[in-house]
Amino acid sequence: MMPRSVLSRCARLTQQVPLESARSTKHGVHRGMSSVTIPPPACMLRPLEAPFRYLFGPGPSNVPPRVLAAGGRPIIGHMHSEMFGIMNDIKKGIQYAFQTSNNMTLAMSGSGHTAMECAVFNIVEPGESVLVAINGIWGERVAEIAERMGAKVHTLVKAPGGHFTNAEIEQALAKHKPVLFFLTHGESSSGLVHPVDGVGDICHKYNCLLLVDSVASLGAAPLLMDQQNIDILYTGSQKALNAPPGTAPISFSERACHKMFNRKTKPVSYLLDMTHLSNYWGNDGKPQRIYHHTGPVSGFFALRESLAILAETGLENSWKHHTEVAEYLWKGLEDLGLKLFIKDKDLRLPSVTTIAIPEGYNWKELLAYIMKHHQIEFTGGLGPSVGMVLRIGLMGYNCNKANAAMALAALEDALKQCRKSKA
Ligand code: PMP
Repeated sequence: MMPRSVLSRCARLTQQVPLESARSTKHGVHRGMSSVTIPPPACMLRPLEAPFRYLFGPGPSNVPPRVLAAGGRPIIGHMHSEMFGIMNDIKKGIQYAFQTSNNMTLAMSGSGHTAMECAVFNIVEPGESVLVAINGIWGERVAEIAERMGAKVHTLVKAPGGHFTNAEIEQALAKHKPVLFFLTHGESSSGLVHPVDGVGDICHKYNCLLLVDSVASLGAAPLLMDQQNIDILYTGSQKALNAPPGTAPISFSERACHKMFNRKTKPVSYLLDMTHLSNYWGNDGKPQRIYHHTGPVSGFFALRESLAILAETGLENSWKHHTEVAEYLWKGLEDLGLKLFIKDKDLRLPSVTTIAIPEGYNWKELLAYIMKHHQIEFTGGLGPSVGMVLRIGLMGYNCNKANAAMALAALEDALKQCRKSKA
């Protein structure tokens, strides 16, 4: 039911339309008179409603009050010196989170996909070869992004849950001679954490740059950009970092900068052109920053706070904590008689656990039951893993044993009730 005050406000507004009907003059509509023919939509006269949910899926994750509060601070201008100071802090926070000393480190104004496109658009020129490892949806996406901008795309493909040996990667690099190789570190659609050791060295042997997606793994599983010779690394704000969706840290090695700043053609996107973005982030050494686009000021405040929390916690503590909670969850799932989709414990992503869909159950029914009766979001598979897995994500702020126990209890209840409803 709509509250009485809102109803009477609606009624008043509807009455205003004929009273202030448009009066045309020789020069158009009379100033001060309304010319609108579309009334204000009734939904806009109702207050915003967003229920509380336990976001135990693969992201976004619940945002701690401290980060929400940072995002709710008064806005300042995107070109104010204080904002540049905050962006400099964000850059340092990302350098810590990525374990890199790359100068070309910044946060994209946009979600993880923005960072994916930024990496591909800036590094690759039309006609150049790209090699993409596909073992879930993220490789598929990057292959499509590269294809759209005119790259020659080669793929290395495994079923969801599979991973590539360094020998397989080397063979494909030798064959296709790509300028860029893409690998997903935390494959959130399959729950796999991909080994990265040695891959950067192999890429460099073949004069290829290594691009790694850590959207689902950053802060949850060990990744060391400089030590592992990763050339371009990106993540998202809404997973283990626990900021709202909408910003995406990214960093480029010197090797990557050399390639992207010595192109023959301009990148297809103006918004994502690193020549402009590097100036906006004060990374190009020029004394003045020139307006390029209006960055998401509140999103950057929140991102800074989430990076501050990671710095206070310590990366190694964060990795250890995610592993401990994940192991607790995995044991609980096995005790319920469920099968984990990734058999090898060392290849399981601590932030997103995948469960093989239990026989005799309709996975959509299980998810709907859990959402309705427990206000908990789990999800099914994504892309090639649809119909194969259920996914439980416990990351950052949500990553604790109490939440894991709550997730297990909800799943146990659903397994009982949904089986009953089928009988
Ligand atoms: N890569 C991975 C591994 C992801 O899990 C996601 C988000 N689920 C993305 C990329 C894309 O990020 P976004 O939805 O923020 O664009």
